[in-house]
Amino acid sequence: MSEPEFFDQGALVAVLTTQPLDRTLDYKAPEGGCLRGAFVEVPLGPRKVIGVIWGAGQGDFDRSRIRSVIRVLDVAPMRDEMKNFLTRAAEYTLTPMPAMLRLATRAPGLGDPPSMRKVYRLGQREPDRMTDARRRVLDTLIEYGGLAFTLKELAEMSGVTSSVIKGLTKQGAVDEIDSPRDMPLPHLDPERPGKELTGDQAAAADSLRTALRSDRYGTTLLRGVTGSGKTEVYLEAVAECLRMGRQALVLLPEIALTAEFLTRVDARFGARPAEWHSGVPMTERRRIWKMVGQGNAQLVVGARSALFLPFQNLGLIIVDEEHDTSYKQEDGVLYNARDMAVLRAAICGARVVLASATPSLESWANAQSGKYDMVELKARFGAAELPDMRAIDMRAEKLKAGTWISPTLRGAVQDRLAKGEQAMLFINRRGYAPVTLCRACGQQIGCDHCDARMVEHRFLKRLMCHQCGETRPLPTVCPSCGAEDRLAPVGPGVERLAEEAAALFPEARVVTLSSDLFGSARALKAEIERIAAGEADIIIGTQLVAKGHNFPYLTLVGVIDADLGLQGSDLRAAERTFQLMRQVAGRAGRAERPGTALLQTFQPEHPVIRAILAGDETGFWRAEAAEREVAGVPPYGRMAGIILSGTDVAQVFDLGNALARNDAPLRQIGAQVFGPAPAPIARVRGRHRVRLLVKAAKGAALQEALARWIAPFRLKGDLRLSVDIDPQSF
Ligand code: ADP
Ligand code: ZN
Repeated sequence: MSEPEFFDQGALVAVLTTQPLDRTLDYKAPEGGCLRGAFVEVPLGPRKVIGVIWGAGQGDFDRSRIRSVIRVLDVAPMRDEMKNFLTRAAEYTLTPMPAMLRLATRAPGLGDPPSMRKVYRLGQREPDRMTDARRRVLDTLIEYGGLAFTLKELAEMSGVTSSVIKGLTKQGAVDEIDSPRDMPLPHLDPERPGKELTGDQAAAADSLRTALRSDRYGTTLLRGVTGSGKTEVYLEAVAECLRMGRQALVLLPEIALTAEFLTRVDARFGARPAEWHSGVPMTERRRIWKMVGQGNAQLVVGARSALFLPFQNLGLIIVDEEHDTSYKQEDGVLYNARDMAVLRAAICGARVVLASATPSLESWANAQSGKYDMVELKARFGAAELPDMRAIDMRAEKLKAGTWISPTLRGAVQDRLAKGEQAMLFINRRGYAPVTLCRACGQQIGCDHCDARMVEHRFLKRLMCHQCGETRPLPTVCPSCGAEDRLAPVGPGVERLAEEAAALFPEARVVTLSSDLFGSARALKAEIERIAAGEADIIIGTQLVAKGHNFPYLTLVGVIDADLGLQGSDLRAAERTFQLMRQVAGRAGRAERPGTALLQTFQPEHPVIRAILAGDETGFWRAEAAEREVAGVPPYGRMAGIILSGTDVAQVFDLGNALARNDAPLRQIGAQVFGPAPAPIARVRGRHRVRLLVKAAKGAALQEALARWIAPFRLKGDLRLSVDIDPQSF
């Protein structure tokens, strides 16, 4: 018997709420009844909470004590597809359903009725007098091209008081308008002509379009070197999806990349798509959530959380830079957006396109086995050549202590500067120096709450812990021995490298790109645009510069420490170094000028460095795959991490040992458990962390066994347990 679609007033309904309870709660349907899937407000103790009508109530309580649903919210009911997705995702990640529902209801004021409100947008006139504050307001409005904001939002986003905005309004530089809360989104026109594609690109676009028209789930790996036109190609697939009247979603790994992408979409389809990430203002998020749910948002561009938007008719998901580690959510619900994209698409019959110049080993293996289709773009667009890659053997270079730019690299930079071209120096370390050492007692300054060093940030004049974000002023006295003025920075960070570059090349305009140096995505975007326009000579950057930006004047990339990622015992280290080095090198020579990448290394004969230099990707993946296959680790085996944490380290280990001893459910599926051992980050915010690793064969029913294994253990005191399926490091 299938469940009813509609519940009459007074009928028993089961409601899933976002409260941490292990089951649904029974209520009576409200006046007027309600649909299955409806979003509702229900009483819970003295509070009102949001929930979803999950199905018929169980009725195993005294009916007279059951309370009524307060009201049905004015948003589209949750579709069965979404319920399936949340349920399967919960099973896959071993996450309780309420936490899953929280991901799917991240829109503030969800149930507020539509009403009029005053919003502010760019006006026609110039203000009589321009102040810094006024400039910031106008910049914000220009930046968000045509969007309107409430007074409070606009003031917050521009960092001004509301009187500044009122002043601008009086002068007609800002318009105050009455707007219905849920203004429709602008229409994207898929019929506008795109760029003329090359033969390779046209073939790739064709095969994506054909796959889309099949109306069935499937995943395509779109592989092509940086600058080969992957974005142009997948925009054609988006156009086809819009023509079919279905919704499309593009996931990007980094908020900093959205601005550039939105501009490209605007140029292609004549309007900006909906944007979804943590930087989008609250009212705008609520509007987009509703529009997506009504099927009125054609295209959403966003971060991984956009996967949980209530799409009505999703036809296509693009995961750009699919190998990027930031797709793995490492807080709260631990999920990999790439895997969840595939799951969501499989449930709603959509296509997935995974785009990358350096695919993850998982995707590469899936393409090899035929589970994914593969489409390749071999050449860079136009005359752009892949950069010439060479190693600088640091054993043969003469360097003064406390400097990191070798004479060879220095000569190469000099050469570019003389030609009026740009050079980039890459180091994947934020701050001034990774270690601050006392020369009197030899102690390093560490974080009080974490198992991590405090990193000096000279621009901010503070020490910062990169684990917990704790900061404190730069001390002049050693916290261990009290010696005065004996603290010294050790090793290079991006800020220190910038200092060295500025001293070596005093005439050059040096720009430093590091995530912590910019107050907002907007400031960062402005800087990136300046670089692209040629208004900088040397770019010093962290990981942030490796991802997807187009810098046409850049012809040299110098990697300060190519060995950095190869240390440590992480099995994915080689893969990550390979990807990062290829991505960074790919920044050079994107336009007509050929590029060069120079890698400073102490081990030029290391197999990973050799594969990078030779540009032998297939060879690298094959070798790496063979090693993982022998070790029986992903993608050739299954793994899960169990992270236990608490303030009392003995208690945490006791729980870990108890789990390790009682592993019968795991042994039944042939899985092995390793540990407990200190987690890769052993202490965060004063909590000790211990990890168990579980390894199973590829086809094993891992989640089900894990659930049975963990279930009997009660978590005492402040102990916490979280499950990490497919951990990033193992
Ligand atoms: P990828 O996503 O593979 O890095 P992009 O799609 O960003 O590559 O293309 C790199 C640059 O080349 C972009 O500036 C893009 O606009 C341009 N480009 C790519 N293909 C074409 C084309 N067929 N016609 C004109 N410009 C193109
Ligand atoms: Zn810390």
